[in-house]
Amino acid sequence: MFFLAGMTTTNSTKSGRLSATGFSLAVGAFLLVTVYFCCPIRFGDSSSRASACVMHLRTIDGAKATWALENKKLPTDTPTDADLFGPTNYIREKPACPRFGKYTLGKVGEKARCSVAGHTY
Ligand SMILES: [Zn+2]
Repeated sequence: MFFLAGMTTTNSTKSGRLSATGFSLAVGAFLLVTVYFCCPIRFGDSSSRASACVMHLRTIDGAKATWALENKKLPTDTPTDADLFGPTNYIREKPACPRFGKYTLGKVGEKARCSVAGHTY
């Protein structure tokens, strides 16, 4: 009985120390997560939208490159929406800019562009 009681006391002391460490770790992690997730929202909602748009542009450029390769196109050739987008094409649906910009596919040798300023890569 004494032995068991001793064990229990030791355990609770240990877990008390552990939870204190765990608490400060949790606070640290919470601060990190807060900073990580709040900063982009506070300092540049537009920049996160821009990066979403840039992802679309990269996807479009990937499709352009594949289209050019499969159809033996030159860097000066320009694909149309119908060449890249659609259920039977490289991208099922044409991506839309989060800021409602207009995409210009451009030539194979060029990067796709968005009409919104700053939506470039
Ligand atoms: Zn855009």
